[in-house]
Amino acid sequence: MPSKWSSLLKTANISKAEQEKNPQAVIDALEFFDAKEVKNDSSKTHIESKVKAVVDADEGVESAGPDDDEELSTSLPYKSERSLNETPAENEVCVDLILALIKAIDKYTRDKIIKQLPVEVKPSPLAKAPAPRAVEQATPEAATPPARVREKKKKMSDEQVMVELRKIVSVGDPKQRYKEYKEIGRGASGVVYTAVEIVTENQVAIKQMNITQQPKKELIINEIKVMKDNKNSNIVNYLDSYLVDNQLWVVMEYLAGGSLTDVVTETCMDEGQIAAVCRECLQALEFLHKQNVIHRDIKSDNVLLGENGNVKLTDFGFCAQITPEQSKRSTMVGTPYWMAPEVVTRKAYGPKVDIWSLGIMAIEMLEGEPPYLNENPIRALYLIATNGTPKIANPERLSESFRDFLNKCLEADVDERASAMELLKVNN
Ligand code: ATP
Repeated sequence: MPSKWSSLLKTANISKAEQEKNPQAVIDALEFFDAKEVKNDSSKTHIESKVKAVVDADEGVESAGPDDDEELSTSLPYKSERSLNETPAENEVCVDLILALIKAIDKYTRDKIIKQLPVEVKPSPLAKAPAPRAVEQATPEAATPPARVREKKKKMSDEQVMVELRKIVSVGDPKQRYKEYKEIGRGASGVVYTAVEIVTENQVAIKQMNITQQPKKELIINEIKVMKDNKNSNIVNYLDSYLVDNQLWVVMEYLAGGSLTDVVTETCMDEGQIAAVCRECLQALEFLHKQNVIHRDIKSDNVLLGENGNVKLTDFGFCAQITPEQSKRSTMVGTPYWMAPEVVTRKAYGPKVDIWSLGIMAIEMLEGEPPYLNENPIRALYLIATNGTPKIANPERLSESFRDFLNKCLEADVDERASAMELLKVNN
Protein backbone atom coordinates (compact mmCIF):
# COMPACT_ATOMS: atom_id res chain seq x y z
CA MET A 1 0.00 0.00 0.00
CA PRO A 2 1.36 3.46 -0.79
CA SER A 3 2.57 5.01 2.43
CA LYS A 4 0.37 8.01 1.76
CA TRP A 5 -2.71 5.81 1.72
CA SER A 6 -1.59 4.12 4.87
CA SER A 7 -1.23 7.44 6.68
CA LEU A 8 -4.50 8.71 5.28
CA LEU A 9 -6.27 5.63 6.51
CA LYS A 10 -4.66 5.86 9.91
CA THR A 11 -6.00 9.35 10.37
CA ALA A 12 -9.43 8.58 8.97
CA ASN A 13 -10.90 6.92 12.06
CA ILE A 14 -12.43 4.15 9.98
CA SER A 15 -12.37 1.04 12.12
CA LYS A 16 -11.29 -2.33 10.82
CA ALA A 17 -14.86 -3.54 11.11
CA GLU A 18 -16.06 -0.57 9.05
CA GLN A 19 -13.38 -1.19 6.45
CA GLU A 20 -14.55 -4.75 6.11
CA LYS A 21 -18.18 -3.69 5.98
CA ASN A 22 -17.73 -1.41 2.99
CA PRO A 23 -14.23 -1.70 1.50
CA GLN A 24 -15.21 0.03 -1.73
CA ALA A 25 -16.26 3.13 0.21
CA VAL A 26 -12.84 3.15 1.88
CA ILE A 27 -11.16 2.95 -1.50
CA ASP A 28 -13.29 5.70 -2.96
CA ALA A 29 -12.53 7.96 -0.02
CA LEU A 30 -8.80 7.23 -0.14
CA GLU A 31 -8.73 7.69 -3.89
CA PHE A 32 -10.29 11.02 -3.43
CA PHE A 33 -8.06 12.15 -0.65
CA ASP A 34 -4.97 10.79 -2.26
CA ALA A 35 -5.03 14.14 -3.94
CA LYS A 36 -3.67 15.72 -0.87
CA GLU A 37 -3.40 15.32 2.80
CA VAL A 38 -5.91 16.96 5.03
CA LYS A 39 -3.94 18.69 7.65
CA ASN A 40 -5.04 18.46 11.19
CA ASP A 41 -4.04 21.00 13.66
CA SER A 42 -5.51 20.27 17.03
CA SER A 43 -4.42 23.65 18.27
CA LYS A 44 -7.12 25.25 16.16
CA THR A 45 -10.80 24.97 16.66
CA HIS A 46 -11.61 24.92 13.02
CA ILE A 47 -9.44 24.24 10.10
CA GLU A 48 -9.89 24.80 6.46
CA SER A 49 -7.55 23.12 4.10
CA LYS A 50 -7.64 24.12 0.48
CA VAL A 51 -6.82 21.37 -1.92
CA LYS A 52 -6.45 21.03 -5.60
CA ALA A 53 -7.10 17.57 -6.92
CA VAL A 54 -7.22 16.02 -10.33
CA VAL A 55 -8.88 12.80 -11.21
CA ASP A 56 -10.72 11.25 -14.11
CA ALA A 57 -13.69 12.98 -15.49
CA ASP A 58 -16.47 12.67 -17.93
CA GLU A 59 -14.73 11.98 -21.12
CA GLY A 60 -16.59 12.85 -24.20
CA VAL A 61 -18.86 15.22 -22.37
CA GLU A 62 -18.78 18.77 -23.47
CA SER A 63 -18.35 20.48 -20.21
CA ALA A 64 -18.52 23.97 -18.96
CA GLY A 65 -16.97 22.58 -15.83
CA PRO A 66 -13.72 21.08 -14.73
CA ASP A 67 -12.22 18.77 -17.29
CA ASP A 68 -10.75 15.35 -17.03
CA ASP A 69 -7.55 14.99 -15.18
CA GLU A 70 -7.39 18.55 -14.26
CA GLU A 71 -6.99 20.26 -11.01
CA LEU A 72 -10.00 20.93 -8.95
CA SER A 73 -10.36 23.01 -5.96
CA THR A 74 -11.35 21.42 -2.73
CA SER A 75 -11.51 22.85 0.64
CA LEU A 76 -12.16 20.60 3.50
CA PRO A 77 -12.83 22.16 6.77
CA TYR A 78 -13.72 20.10 9.74
CA LYS A 79 -13.57 20.36 13.43
CA SER A 80 -10.23 19.06 14.50
CA GLU A 81 -11.04 18.74 18.16
CA ARG A 82 -12.94 15.56 17.48
CA SER A 83 -10.89 14.29 14.66
CA LEU A 84 -7.69 12.47 15.33
CA ASN A 85 -7.44 12.45 19.05
CA GLU A 86 -9.92 9.68 19.61
CA THR A 87 -8.50 7.02 17.38
CA PRO A 88 -9.58 3.75 18.97
CA ALA A 89 -7.28 0.77 19.01
CA GLU A 90 -9.53 -1.00 16.56
CA ASN A 91 -8.63 1.60 13.98
CA GLU A 92 -5.44 -0.21 13.15
CA VAL A 93 -5.00 -0.26 9.43
CA CYS A 94 -6.16 -3.45 7.88
CA VAL A 95 -3.17 -3.66 5.59
CA ASP A 96 -4.01 -6.88 3.83
CA LEU A 97 -7.51 -5.80 3.06
CA ILE A 98 -6.44 -2.44 1.76
CA LEU A 99 -3.65 -3.95 -0.32
CA ALA A 100 -6.17 -6.23 -1.96
CA LEU A 101 -8.47 -3.34 -2.54
CA ILE A 102 -5.76 -1.19 -4.01
CA LYS A 103 -4.92 -3.93 -6.46
CA ALA A 104 -8.55 -4.04 -7.38
CA ILE A 105 -8.64 -0.38 -8.19
CA ASP A 106 -5.30 -0.21 -9.93
CA LYS A 107 -7.18 -0.72 -13.15
CA TYR A 108 -8.69 2.67 -12.72
CA THR A 109 -6.87 5.59 -14.09
CA ARG A 110 -4.79 7.08 -11.34
CA ASP A 111 -2.87 9.70 -13.23
CA LYS A 112 -3.81 12.47 -10.94
CA ILE A 113 -2.06 15.67 -10.29
CA ILE A 114 -2.56 16.79 -6.82
CA LYS A 115 -1.50 19.98 -5.33
CA GLN A 116 -1.87 21.16 -1.83
CA LEU A 117 -2.37 24.76 -1.05
CA PRO A 118 -1.40 26.08 2.32
CA VAL A 119 -3.75 25.29 5.14
CA GLU A 120 -5.76 28.32 5.81
CA VAL A 121 -8.01 29.34 8.64
CA LYS A 122 -10.94 31.14 7.11
CA PRO A 123 -10.73 34.75 8.17
CA SER A 124 -14.02 35.00 9.94
CA PRO A 125 -14.87 37.59 12.50
CA LEU A 126 -17.56 35.25 13.74
CA ALA A 127 -15.18 32.31 14.04
CA LYS A 128 -17.83 30.38 12.23
CA ALA A 129 -17.54 26.76 11.32
CA PRO A 130 -15.14 26.22 8.48
CA ALA A 131 -16.58 26.57 5.05
CA PRO A 132 -16.15 23.30 3.24
CA ARG A 133 -15.57 23.19 -0.50
CA ALA A 134 -15.53 21.01 -3.56
CA VAL A 135 -14.01 17.67 -4.59
CA GLU A 136 -13.61 15.56 -7.70
CA GLN A 137 -13.15 12.00 -8.93
CA ALA A 138 -14.58 9.78 -11.63
CA THR A 139 -16.66 6.69 -11.52
CA PRO A 140 -15.18 3.79 -13.41
CA GLU A 141 -18.34 2.54 -15.04
CA ALA A 142 -19.71 5.94 -15.90
CA ALA A 143 -16.48 7.57 -16.82
CA THR A 144 -15.20 4.79 -18.96
CA PRO A 145 -17.97 3.22 -20.95
CA PRO A 146 -16.28 0.32 -22.71
CA ALA A 147 -17.43 1.28 -26.17
CA ARG A 148 -15.87 4.66 -25.99
CA VAL A 149 -12.35 5.77 -26.39
CA ARG A 150 -11.05 7.96 -23.64
CA GLU A 151 -9.98 11.30 -24.84
CA LYS A 152 -8.37 13.45 -22.28
CA LYS A 153 -8.94 17.11 -22.59
CA LYS A 154 -5.78 19.08 -22.74
CA LYS A 155 -5.18 21.68 -20.10
CA MET A 156 -5.32 25.16 -21.55
CA SER A 157 -2.08 27.05 -21.73
CA ASP A 158 -1.86 30.45 -20.05
CA GLU A 159 -1.97 32.05 -23.46
CA GLN A 160 -5.14 30.17 -24.42
CA VAL A 161 -6.71 31.20 -21.15
CA MET A 162 -5.95 34.85 -21.85
CA VAL A 163 -7.36 34.53 -25.37
CA GLU A 164 -10.57 33.04 -23.95
CA LEU A 165 -10.79 35.72 -21.29
CA ARG A 166 -10.26 38.54 -23.78
CA LYS A 167 -13.29 37.21 -25.68
CA ILE A 168 -15.42 37.54 -22.58
CA VAL A 169 -14.29 40.71 -20.82
CA SER A 170 -15.20 44.30 -21.61
CA VAL A 171 -12.68 46.72 -22.97
CA GLY A 172 -11.81 49.66 -20.79
CA ASP A 173 -10.58 50.63 -17.38
CA PRO A 174 -12.96 49.68 -14.58
CA LYS A 175 -11.24 52.17 -12.30
CA GLN A 176 -12.85 54.88 -14.42
CA ARG A 177 -16.24 53.28 -13.96
CA TYR A 178 -16.29 52.30 -10.30
CA LYS A 179 -15.20 54.10 -7.16
CA GLU A 180 -15.04 53.60 -3.39
CA TYR A 181 -13.51 50.14 -3.23
CA LYS A 182 -13.88 48.39 0.11
CA GLU A 183 -12.66 44.86 0.76
CA ILE A 184 -15.42 42.56 2.01
CA GLY A 185 -13.90 39.13 1.78
CA ARG A 186 -11.25 36.83 0.46
CA GLY A 187 -11.59 33.46 -1.21
CA ALA A 188 -9.10 30.99 -2.58
CA SER A 189 -9.05 32.68 -5.95
CA GLY A 190 -9.14 36.35 -5.07
CA VAL A 191 -10.37 39.29 -3.08
CA VAL A 192 -13.92 40.64 -3.18
CA TYR A 193 -14.62 44.38 -2.86
CA THR A 194 -17.71 46.49 -2.85
CA ALA A 195 -17.60 49.47 -5.16
CA VAL A 196 -19.97 52.10 -6.47
CA GLU A 197 -20.69 52.58 -10.15
CA ILE A 198 -19.92 56.23 -10.79
CA VAL A 199 -22.75 56.89 -13.27
CA THR A 200 -25.59 55.06 -11.53
CA GLU A 201 -24.35 55.18 -7.91
CA ASN A 202 -25.29 51.50 -7.72
CA GLN A 203 -23.30 49.38 -5.33
CA VAL A 204 -21.62 46.32 -6.86
CA ALA A 205 -19.30 43.52 -5.74
CA ILE A 206 -16.03 43.12 -7.62
CA LYS A 207 -13.95 39.97 -7.36
CA GLN A 208 -10.35 40.60 -8.31
CA MET A 209 -8.28 37.56 -9.21
CA ASN A 210 -4.64 37.45 -10.10
CA ILE A 211 -4.65 35.29 -13.22
CA THR A 212 -1.05 34.23 -12.98
CA GLN A 213 -1.60 32.85 -9.49
CA GLN A 214 -4.62 30.73 -10.36
CA PRO A 215 -3.78 27.04 -10.32
CA LYS A 216 -6.97 26.25 -12.24
CA LYS A 217 -7.65 29.04 -14.66
CA GLU A 218 -10.34 27.07 -16.50
CA LEU A 219 -12.52 27.22 -13.42
CA ILE A 220 -12.60 30.98 -13.61
CA ILE A 221 -13.57 30.96 -17.26
CA ASN A 222 -16.20 28.39 -16.40
CA GLU A 223 -17.56 30.54 -13.61
CA ILE A 224 -17.84 33.66 -15.74
CA LYS A 225 -19.43 31.82 -18.65
CA VAL A 226 -22.04 30.17 -16.45
CA MET A 227 -22.86 33.45 -14.67
CA LYS A 228 -23.03 35.33 -17.95
CA ASP A 229 -25.25 32.78 -19.67
CA ASN A 230 -27.60 32.03 -16.81
CA LYS A 231 -29.30 35.12 -15.49
CA ASN A 232 -32.00 34.48 -12.95
CA SER A 233 -33.43 36.31 -9.97
CA ASN A 234 -32.14 33.59 -7.63
CA ILE A 235 -28.61 33.66 -9.01
CA VAL A 236 -25.98 36.26 -8.14
CA ASN A 237 -25.97 38.18 -11.37
CA TYR A 238 -22.87 38.83 -13.39
CA LEU A 239 -22.65 42.43 -14.53
CA ASP A 240 -19.32 42.84 -16.27
CA SER A 241 -15.69 41.79 -16.29
CA TYR A 242 -12.35 43.37 -17.13
CA LEU A 243 -8.72 42.49 -17.48
CA VAL A 244 -6.57 44.89 -15.52
CA ASP A 245 -2.91 44.04 -16.04
CA ASN A 246 -2.70 40.44 -14.88
CA GLN A 247 -5.88 40.67 -12.86
CA LEU A 248 -9.38 39.60 -13.81
CA TRP A 249 -12.10 41.76 -12.32
CA VAL A 250 -15.56 40.23 -12.19
CA VAL A 251 -18.30 42.74 -11.41
CA MET A 252 -21.47 41.27 -9.97
CA GLU A 253 -24.47 42.35 -8.02
CA TYR A 254 -23.77 42.96 -4.36
CA LEU A 255 -25.69 41.08 -1.70
CA ALA A 256 -25.25 42.89 1.54
CA GLY A 257 -26.67 40.21 3.82
CA GLY A 258 -23.63 37.95 3.65
CA SER A 259 -23.68 34.21 3.23
CA LEU A 260 -26.22 31.76 4.59
CA THR A 261 -23.38 30.14 6.56
CA ASP A 262 -23.21 33.22 8.77
CA VAL A 263 -26.88 32.74 9.55
CA VAL A 264 -26.85 28.99 10.15
CA THR A 265 -23.84 29.18 12.44
CA GLU A 266 -25.11 32.12 14.45
CA THR A 267 -28.84 31.70 14.71
CA CYS A 268 -31.56 29.09 14.92
CA MET A 269 -33.76 29.19 11.87
CA ASP A 270 -37.37 28.16 12.15
CA GLU A 271 -39.09 25.89 9.64
CA GLY A 272 -40.75 28.78 7.84
CA GLN A 273 -37.40 30.48 7.27
CA ILE A 274 -35.77 27.25 6.17
CA ALA A 275 -38.63 26.58 3.77
CA ALA A 276 -38.33 30.08 2.31
CA VAL A 277 -34.59 29.70 1.68
CA CYS A 278 -35.10 26.23 0.20
CA ARG A 279 -37.80 27.52 -2.16
CA GLU A 280 -35.54 30.30 -3.45
CA CYS A 281 -32.64 27.88 -3.94
CA LEU A 282 -34.94 25.38 -5.65
CA GLN A 283 -36.03 28.10 -8.06
CA ALA A 284 -32.38 28.67 -8.93
CA LEU A 285 -31.81 24.93 -9.28
CA GLU A 286 -34.90 24.39 -11.38
CA PHE A 287 -33.65 27.12 -13.69
CA LEU A 288 -30.09 25.77 -13.88
CA HIS A 289 -31.24 22.19 -14.38
CA LYS A 290 -33.53 23.28 -17.22
CA GLN A 291 -30.44 24.80 -18.83
CA ASN A 292 -28.73 21.44 -18.30
CA VAL A 293 -26.36 22.91 -15.77
CA ILE A 294 -25.48 21.06 -12.56
CA HIS A 295 -24.12 23.37 -9.86
CA ARG A 296 -22.23 20.62 -7.98
CA ASP A 297 -21.33 22.70 -4.93
CA ILE A 298 -24.58 23.59 -3.21
CA LYS A 299 -24.00 24.53 0.43
CA SER A 300 -24.72 27.47 2.71
CA ASP A 301 -21.44 29.20 1.81
CA ASN A 302 -22.65 29.49 -1.75
CA VAL A 303 -25.97 31.10 -0.89
CA LEU A 304 -25.85 34.86 -0.48
CA LEU A 305 -28.54 36.95 1.14
CA GLY A 306 -29.75 40.39 0.19
CA GLU A 307 -30.85 42.93 2.75
CA ASN A 308 -34.30 42.86 1.20
CA GLY A 309 -34.63 39.11 1.79
CA ASN A 310 -33.23 38.04 -1.57
CA VAL A 311 -31.68 34.59 -1.60
CA LYS A 312 -29.22 33.92 -4.41
CA LEU A 313 -26.95 31.11 -5.46
CA THR A 314 -23.33 31.83 -6.26
CA ASP A 315 -19.98 30.15 -6.96
CA PHE A 316 -20.33 28.53 -10.35
CA GLY A 317 -16.76 27.36 -10.82
CA PHE A 318 -17.71 23.71 -10.49
CA CYS A 319 -20.80 23.74 -12.67
CA ALA A 320 -21.12 21.06 -15.30
CA GLN A 321 -22.97 21.46 -18.56
CA ILE A 322 -24.77 18.31 -19.57
CA THR A 323 -26.55 17.56 -22.82
CA PRO A 324 -29.63 15.48 -23.61
CA GLU A 325 -27.31 12.92 -25.22
CA GLN A 326 -24.87 12.89 -22.34
CA SER A 327 -26.95 13.60 -19.30
CA LYS A 328 -24.69 12.01 -16.71
CA ARG A 329 -21.45 13.12 -15.18
CA SER A 330 -19.03 11.06 -13.20
CA THR A 331 -16.35 13.33 -11.88
CA MET A 332 -16.29 13.50 -8.12
CA VAL A 333 -16.89 17.17 -7.55
CA GLY A 334 -18.28 18.93 -4.57
CA THR A 335 -17.56 19.52 -0.95
CA PRO A 336 -17.36 16.19 0.89
CA TYR A 337 -19.99 16.73 3.56
CA TRP A 338 -22.57 17.88 0.99
CA MET A 339 -21.79 15.29 -1.65
CA ALA A 340 -24.50 12.85 -2.73
CA PRO A 341 -23.85 9.11 -2.29
CA GLU A 342 -23.76 8.58 -6.07
CA VAL A 343 -20.96 11.15 -6.32
CA VAL A 344 -19.00 9.70 -3.42
CA THR A 345 -19.34 6.18 -4.79
CA ARG A 346 -18.28 7.37 -8.22
CA LYS A 347 -21.38 6.45 -10.10
CA ALA A 348 -22.80 8.34 -13.04
CA TYR A 349 -24.82 11.23 -11.73
CA GLY A 350 -27.09 14.01 -12.91
CA PRO A 351 -28.74 17.19 -11.61
CA LYS A 352 -30.21 15.42 -8.60
CA VAL A 353 -26.84 15.65 -6.84
CA ASP A 354 -27.79 19.30 -6.27
CA ILE A 355 -31.04 18.20 -4.62
CA TRP A 356 -29.15 15.96 -2.19
CA SER A 357 -26.82 18.86 -1.34
CA LEU A 358 -29.83 21.09 -0.84
CA GLY A 359 -31.16 18.52 1.66
CA ILE A 360 -27.81 18.66 3.48
CA MET A 361 -28.04 22.45 3.42
CA ALA A 362 -31.50 22.18 4.98
CA ILE A 363 -29.87 20.17 7.80
CA GLU A 364 -27.30 22.95 8.13
CA MET A 365 -30.15 25.40 8.62
CA LEU A 366 -31.73 23.07 11.15
CA GLU A 367 -28.69 21.96 13.10
CA GLY A 368 -26.05 24.58 12.27
CA GLU A 369 -23.82 22.22 10.35
CA PRO A 370 -23.98 19.34 7.88
CA PRO A 371 -23.88 15.72 9.08
CA TYR A 372 -20.41 14.35 9.88
CA LEU A 373 -18.75 17.78 10.00
CA ASN A 374 -16.97 16.68 13.15
CA GLU A 375 -15.60 13.68 11.36
CA ASN A 376 -12.39 13.43 9.47
CA PRO A 377 -13.40 14.13 5.83
CA ILE A 378 -12.21 10.72 4.68
CA ARG A 379 -14.46 9.10 7.23
CA ALA A 380 -17.25 11.49 6.25
CA LEU A 381 -17.05 10.22 2.67
CA TYR A 382 -17.08 6.66 3.97
CA LEU A 383 -20.16 7.39 6.08
CA ILE A 384 -22.03 9.05 3.21
CA ALA A 385 -21.33 6.06 0.99
CA THR A 386 -22.22 3.55 3.69
CA ASN A 387 -25.13 5.16 5.53
CA GLY A 388 -26.93 6.86 2.66
CA THR A 389 -29.63 9.12 4.09
CA PRO A 390 -28.18 10.77 7.20
CA LYS A 391 -30.08 10.68 10.46
CA ILE A 392 -31.13 13.89 12.09
CA ALA A 393 -31.50 14.34 15.82
CA ASN A 394 -35.05 14.18 17.18
CA PRO A 395 -36.93 14.11 13.89
CA GLU A 396 -40.21 14.13 15.82
CA ARG A 397 -39.64 17.84 16.58
CA LEU A 398 -40.13 18.59 12.88
CA SER A 399 -43.39 18.99 11.04
CA GLU A 400 -44.43 16.14 8.81
CA SER A 401 -44.03 18.27 5.71
CA PHE A 402 -40.47 19.22 6.63
CA ARG A 403 -39.58 15.58 7.31
CA ASP A 404 -41.14 14.68 3.98
CA PHE A 405 -39.12 17.40 2.25
CA LEU A 406 -35.87 16.15 3.81
CA ASN A 407 -36.70 12.58 2.84
CA LYS A 408 -37.40 13.59 -0.74
CA CYS A 409 -34.08 15.45 -1.00
CA LEU A 410 -32.00 12.93 0.91
CA GLU A 411 -33.28 9.84 -0.83
CA ALA A 412 -30.24 7.68 -1.58
CA ASP A 413 -31.99 6.10 -4.58
CA VAL A 414 -31.55 8.73 -7.26
CA ASP A 415 -34.62 7.61 -9.21
CA GLU A 416 -36.74 8.08 -6.12
CA ARG A 417 -35.19 11.42 -5.21
CA ALA A 418 -37.34 14.38 -6.17
CA SER A 419 -36.34 16.89 -8.82
CA ALA A 420 -36.29 20.65 -8.23
CA MET A 421 -39.51 20.98 -10.22
CA GLU A 422 -41.29 18.31 -8.16
CA LEU A 423 -40.19 19.84 -4.88
CA LEU A 424 -41.39 23.27 -5.95
CA LYS A 425 -44.78 21.84 -6.94
CA VAL A 426 -45.20 20.00 -3.65
CA ASN A 427 -44.18 22.96 -1.57
CA ASN A 428 -46.04 25.73 -3.33
P1 ATP B 1 -13.30 30.94 -4.16
O1 ATP B 1 -14.53 30.92 -5.03
O2 ATP B 1 -12.20 31.81 -4.69
O3 ATP B 1 -12.88 29.61 -3.67
P2 ATP B 1 -14.89 31.67 -1.94
O4 ATP B 1 -16.05 31.02 -2.59
O5 ATP B 1 -14.46 31.19 -0.60
O6 ATP B 1 -13.66 31.74 -2.86
P3 ATP B 1 -15.37 34.34 -2.79
O7 ATP B 1 -16.37 33.99 -3.82
O8 ATP B 1 -14.03 34.83 -3.25
O9 ATP B 1 -15.18 33.18 -1.74
O10 ATP B 1 -15.97 35.38 -1.81
C1 ATP B 1 -15.23 35.89 -0.71
C2 ATP B 1 -16.20 36.55 0.25
O11 ATP B 1 -16.90 37.59 -0.40
C3 ATP B 1 -17.23 35.58 0.81
O12 ATP B 1 -17.37 35.84 2.17
C4 ATP B 1 -18.50 35.92 0.08
O13 ATP B 1 -19.61 35.75 0.92
C5 ATP B 1 -18.30 37.40 -0.26
N1 ATP B 1 -18.93 37.69 -1.54
C6 ATP B 1 -18.63 37.12 -2.72
N2 ATP B 1 -19.42 37.59 -3.69
C7 ATP B 1 -20.27 38.47 -3.11
C8 ATP B 1 -21.36 39.27 -3.58
N3 ATP B 1 -21.73 39.25 -4.87
N4 ATP B 1 -22.01 40.03 -2.69
C9 ATP B 1 -21.64 40.03 -1.39
N5 ATP B 1 -20.63 39.31 -0.88
C10 ATP B 1 -19.95 38.52 -1.72
